[in-house]
Amino acid sequence: MRIYISVDMEGLAGVAHPHQVTFGPNGPDRADYDRSRALMAGEANAAIAAAFDAGADEVVVNDSHWSMRNLRAEDLDPRARLIVGDKPLSMTQGIGEAGDGAFDAACFIGYHAGAGHPTGVIAHTYSSATIMEVRVNGVPHNEAGLNAMRVGHHGVPVALVAGDDALAGEVELLLPWAERVVVKRALGYSLAESLSPEAARQAIGEGVQRALDRLDELRLLEPALPAVVEVDFRFPAHAAFAAVLPGAERSGPRSVRIEAEDGEAAFRRFLALHRMAAASGL
Ligand SMILES: [Zn+2]
Repeated sequence: MRIYISVDMEGLAGVAHPHQVTFGPNGPDRADYDRSRALMAGEANAAIAAAFDAGADEVVVNDSHWSMRNLRAEDLDPRARLIVGDKPLSMTQGIGEAGDGAFDAACFIGYHAGAGHPTGVIAHTYSSATIMEVRVNGVPHNEAGLNAMRVGHHGVPVALVAGDDALAGEVELLLPWAERVVVKRALGYSLAESLSPEAARQAIGEGVQRALDRLDELRLLEPALPAVVEVDFRFPAHAAFAAVLPGAERSGPRSVRIEAEDGEAAFRRFLALHRMAAASGL
């Protein structure tokens, strides 16, 4: 059994404020961010250990937050492999590339609710600066949903999603078969009532065990085809830059719509729209 684990930072126990998940020369303090890196490794290690206990032969971890160079390799369970560096395929790097082989299931750790959630902790979808909502076939998709669509195209079901209760509510609708581990209660964008890191690790380990015990019940997220991807951006200029992508059309002042022939293409077109909007510089 091969297990893929994508680890984000906003949905970890003990994390509630944006200043805990990034740093900059004139921005948040590096000390808070470095503590979050340790919390990230702690929850990842809980999932890794549970996967091996459940019979995994190989566990691959993708660092899926911000620069994607947050996890310190030396902090991770030495049995796991780590995907670290600049990633064309972002939060699902390591799936579907030549030589990656097949995975039996994916786990999403430290994830968060989608852009616009009324209470979700640091709720956003790929970009806080540019994206207001992403829909696939008219249904809002958070990062877990978009990533599940891509890994689903490659035959990999999502077994577990860990984060706050706001995320759990969204996952129940998008990926009802996935185990949901709630490590904190979302009280607002930068406010949470959190489990201790130790309790969160325990819950994640138990969740992974439960999920991998019922692999046969997991399903693939496969959109009806052709899939219609629509992104509402923050500013019309974002939509103008994104609409340069061949096949994309401006569906509203701030919105761009594009069709895709399968889940892989839908994810890639979303990612391209997101990156082209960022090129506006706004
Ligand atoms: Zn993140």
